[in-house]
Amino acid sequence: MEPREELIELIEQAKEHLRYFSELGITHFGEPPLAVTSPLPISPKQEVSVSPVVTSSVKEEVEVGIKEPEVIQPTALQEAQLFETGEPMPAKKKAITKQPPALFEDITPANFEAGFKDDTLEKIREDMGECQRCKLWKTRTKLVFGEGNEKADLMFVGEAPGADEDASGRPFVGRAGQLLTKMIEAINLKREDVYIANVIKSRPPGNRNPEKDEIEACIPFLFRQIATIRPKLIVTLGNPATQSLLNTKTGISQMRGTFQDYPRLSGIKVLPTFHPAYLLRSPDKKREAWEDLKKVRKFLLDEK
Ligand code: URA
Repeated sequence: MEPREELIELIEQAKEHLRYFSELGITHFGEPPLAVTSPLPISPKQEVSVSPVVTSSVKEEVEVGIKEPEVIQPTALQEAQLFETGEPMPAKKKAITKQPPALFEDITPANFEAGFKDDTLEKIREDMGECQRCKLWKTRTKLVFGEGNEKADLMFVGEAPGADEDASGRPFVGRAGQLLTKMIEAINLKREDVYIANVIKSRPPGNRNPEKDEIEACIPFLFRQIATIRPKLIVTLGNPATQSLLNTKTGISQMRGTFQDYPRLSGIKVLPTFHPAYLLRSPDKKREAWEDLKKVRKFLLDEK
């Protein structure tokens, strides 16, 4: 190949590479700084444990003059990865690769499981700190981490805190929460027996749906909660919880009442059902929700 053509191809590859990182939400690249500074309001503990992640091999782009070297801060998922391996991601990669590097390729269910074996809910909460990883910190009152039995066999995952949750810092305490409590009691359990959490932990203004970047910033903490609690069954409430935990775009009406495998860890089932807020708006759907709850009850009895 002529040097000129080779250069053009290289530039094309570099552009493709940048597009890939931009899809991952990564906008800055570069070498690690000498001193670690973070714009995140993180706890002192976090500050020592989280080193800035240098995007893997964007050295290439820098070399071909597309990008000035800069430093990026780790996303929560990258923090999770650091936590799993105990090592920072490699600062440099060897040579220009034809394929974009798979940044998260080592987050497989198996090593996720291994990496999180010593995690605790307390540590996860501490790592979240007064989280500012997405824009919702600006409008929330209290971060709603989740609550319940740390050793629960059954976990409920909702979408996001509403106004009552935002004010109290507790999940599912408003009208939908009261219905959820009744649903739990209908299968002969108490709220304290189960664990309740949400996909995102800060209230979206006006209870709008969580946005993609908000979910991406927050969901690694839910993954860690699940890996720590190790429930036998997760009941996902509504579309956002079901779709985010199962990596699917299929809607809740089709998914509800069907047992699924939790894709990140073996031995955990997921049963999607309607969100209690939806049941308040569409009481005729309660019958189907009750069918789902009977499956939950039977599953837990069979597992004993
Ligand atoms: N709706 C949710 O999805 N979660 C809550 O905590 C409250 C209402």
